[in-house]
Amino acid sequence: MMNMNFCSLSSGSSGNCYYLGNKSKGILIDAGISATSIRKFLYDRDISLDSIRGILITHNHIDHIRGLELLTRKYSLPVFTTCKIRNSILLPHKKISSAAIREIPLMEKFRLADFDIEAFPVSHDAPETIGFNITASGREITIATDLGYISDTAASYIKKANVLVIESNYDEQMLINGKYPYYLKTRIKSDYGHLGNHQASEFLAEIISDNLTHICLAHLSKNNNTPEIVLETIKKVFAKKKVNLNGRQKITVLNRNVPSEMICLSEQNPPINLVLFQELEKREYH
Ligand SMILES: [Zn+2]
Ligand SMILES: [Zn+2]
Repeated sequence: MMNMNFCSLSSGSSGNCYYLGNKSKGILIDAGISATSIRKFLYDRDISLDSIRGILITHNHIDHIRGLELLTRKYSLPVFTTCKIRNSILLPHKKISSAAIREIPLMEKFRLADFDIEAFPVSHDAPETIGFNITASGREITIATDLGYISDTAASYIKKANVLVIESNYDEQMLINGKYPYYLKTRIKSDYGHLGNHQASEFLAEIISDNLTHICLAHLSKNNNTPEIVLETIKKVFAKKKVNLNGRQKITVLNRNVPSEMICLSEQNPPINLVLFQELEKREYH
């Protein structure tokens, strides 16, 4: 059996795109960077764009759909999203191929290539925003970026994950003290905005289990966050809540511009690597 791999090609307020697949079949979740960059990043990992069977789209914000025009027109890739999101994309973006975007149900499984996929609603300031729970090779991955708070529905999909991609968008102090206008600060902090570092860390402290082997902290703000602060926050919150990691969980902060390492989903027991924070702090982020 071929290994099922996951990686982030880009994650942050300037562009989001994730890859899941094996050598013969894969999918992308969001296409917020250029088609050229996506093709290059995949090529660098020995993955052909021809192996991509579809692109799942979470919502219509440009940092999630920037590459769609070329990916649908030039490369004829099919796109999967809800009816409402489809309309919200096509209305202002006439050059994206409408025939390429197929409608999917909410909270109901559908199959694409070797993947069982279920979309769930999240709270964000777009006409509709969804997260995805995907089963591949018997393992479950949940992607929840762009959400103002974690509803009970979203939490139920997040708790099922073996591999979780969750937003940790902003440091609360940096946002409050930063240069953004008041209305924008209010929007970001609201239930329809983004998840802050404390919100994400406190939620993770509650739900962490041996089942959850990989946590990827995603969609960091360029102006109101740093990877170091994300780690510092999670470390403090876990210490306060007496969460002891037993070495089975790997926590990664996804880089805004550089693709992440490949995570092998088929690996049931990831390497007991973790002197967790020390190792992460040594990483190069820039
Ligand atoms: Zn976004
Ligand atoms: Zn958004």
